[in-house]
Amino acid sequence: MVRSIILSKKDRGEADELVVFLTREGGWLRGIAKNAKKSRQRFGGHLEPLTLVDLLLRPRKKDNLIWIDEAHVAQGLLGIRSDLGKVALATYFLELAQQLLPEAQSDAALFDFMVGFLESLEGALPAPAASLLEEIRLLGLLGYAPEFHICPACAKKIDPGEEAFFSPVNGGVIHSGCAGRIPTDLVISPDTLALVRRGLALRNSAASRLKLSKRGATEVRAALSSFVRHLSGQEIKSLAFLEKVAAWPDPVR
Ligand SMILES: [Zn+2]
Repeated sequence: MVRSIILSKKDRGEADELVVFLTREGGWLRGIAKNAKKSRQRFGGHLEPLTLVDLLLRPRKKDNLIWIDEAHVAQGLLGIRSDLGKVALATYFLELAQQLLPEAQSDAALFDFMVGFLESLEGALPAPAASLLEEIRLLGLLGYAPEFHICPACAKKIDPGEEAFFSPVNGGVIHSGCAGRIPTDLVISPDTLALVRRGLALRNSAASRLKLSKRGATEVRAALSSFVRHLSGQEIKSLAFLEKVAAWPDPVR
C-alpha cells in the first residue's frame, strides 16, 4: 500500500474515477479507480479529496496513468474538510505543489511537509503570519524560495528600515531604487520585511506566535500571490478561492 494525499477526483466515463494524488516515493500521480462509482465496497468514501489514504497501485501500460485497485482511509482529516477556510488553504498548498513539481518526480521532503501541514491544519487554522511563512517554506521546498534578504536586482542587502517592493519577475524583495517601472502595488514596508525575516529564522512553533499587522499580511499575501501567478503562468483556481474566502487577514472562518 502506498500512503497518499488525495488532491482531486473526477468522473472518467460511466463507471471509473480519475484521481490525482501525491505519494512520498512517486511524487504526483494520476490513477484510475475502476468501477469506483459502482464498487462502494472497495472505494466507498476512500478517495475523497484532502484525505490521507493507503492505495494499492498497479502499473498500466498504455499511458501515464496507474491503476488504483484498493483504497483505505488512513486519516480522514474531517477537521479540515468541514471548514471552508481550511479547505481553501489545504487545496491551495496542494495545487501549488502540483503546479511546480512535475508529475512522477518523487520528493520525500515535500510529502512529509504536506502531511505535517495537514495534520496541524486539522487541529487549527494558523494565524496569517504563520500561514504565509508556511507558504514561503513550501515555495522553498519546491525550489522557488522568494528572496527576502538580498535584492535580486543589484545583489546588495536591503537594510532594515528601507522602503522596498516585491518583484515577481526577480523573485524577491528589491530596493525601491531598483524597482524601475515595477508597479508599486507590491510595497513591502520595513516592518513587514523585518517580521518575515524574523519568522523565516525561527522554528515553526515559534514563528506561529508572530503577529502580522493587517497591512503586513495584505502586503505579503499580494506579494506571494503575484509571485505564484508569475511562476505558474496560469491562474490557480484555489488561489482565487483562497483570496475570496479568506477575508484576509482576519482568521479564515
Ligand atoms: Zn537593489
